[in-house]
Amino acid sequence: MVNVTRDFFIGLSNNKFLNEYAKKWGFRLGAEKFVAGTTVDSVAKVVKELNSIGISCTLDNLGEFVSDKAESTKAKEEILRLLDRIHTDKLDCHLSVKLTQLGLDIDREFCVENMKEILTIAGSYGIFVNIDMEDYSHYQQTIDVLLELRKDFDNVGTVMQAYLYRTEDDLEDLKDVRLRLVKGAYKESSDVAYQSKEDIDRAFIKIAKKRLEEAEFTSIATHDHRIINEMKAFVKKKNISNDKFEFQMLYGFRTEMHSNLAEEGYNFCTYIPFGSDWFGYFMRRLAERPQNVNLVVKDVFCK
Ligand code: FAD
Repeated sequence: MVNVTRDFFIGLSNNKFLNEYAKKWGFRLGAEKFVAGTTVDSVAKVVKELNSIGISCTLDNLGEFVSDKAESTKAKEEILRLLDRIHTDKLDCHLSVKLTQLGLDIDREFCVENMKEILTIAGSYGIFVNIDMEDYSHYQQTIDVLLELRKDFDNVGTVMQAYLYRTEDDLEDLKDVRLRLVKGAYKESSDVAYQSKEDIDRAFIKIAKKRLEEAEFTSIATHDHRIINEMKAFVKKKNISNDKFEFQMLYGFRTEMHSNLAEEGYNFCTYIPFGSDWFGYFMRRLAERPQNVNLVVKDVFCK
């Protein structure tokens, strides 16, 4: 039943018509609980509040699977304006971007040039840019683009998904790259990815420990309190400095844990999506946690 619900929402997240329609529709279905508004002003306000309690942020100007160059150029320009705002307002935050928003499916070179422009400005402001990992059909291209960009820029990293069988091996060549580790949000086949929660959790814990002992800065991105507790115990036992990692969670999820972890002295970063292209992101969150569907039902019926 859980898998049927998951597949249903993942299916909706990929529906181009609904994604387009939702942009004109404005926030519905309770999306505002997980998406911090549609404008830079609205998201800057949220970042300032979180910064004031010791939480840093990563901002995602929502958008993905773009098939039109003009739309990718517009997304890049919005990201450049966002960088200016982060710099001017001295916000403690970095950026998360998706290569398919910046044209990967249209023309790889065009996408790389967009990224270079973003990284040049971000670098001049001392801002790190993380490339979100999308579905498996974009996995190798994402790693290849990252490695190409890293020849000229050191302020760029990406995300690795513990559910992919190949992640552990691929990480051997990425030890010097700042990375976010996640379980993985897309529906992938058993040819490439673990399917059960137990296998995915086991892989996540194994990879996270290896990263903490052997690699560059790692963002441990999960809402799973069992994994977080295991990581806390591990860094204590191995005497690993808090400077080597941070915990990351999504805006609107388990918010009491965000401030608790920051108060305990851990680096904590909230991933904040914003913008009008909210539908695909929101549907993936419903796929992960069917309990959130209750919020949607309330939003539809209790207004
Ligand atoms: P789950 O397996 O979903 O949850 C584990 C347990 O935690 C649950 O059984 C429950 O006990 C508890 N729990 C979880 N959520 C809640 C809640 N809201 N309230 C109460 N208890 C809860 N995926 C990608 O593929 N690419 C990316 O670039 C990417 N970036 C991400 C960035 C961040 C900061 C985060 C947090 C996730 C990102 N993801 C990304 C999504 C990720 O892959 C997972 O799909 C998502 O985080 C759900 O997995 P989980 O680790 O939170 O644990």
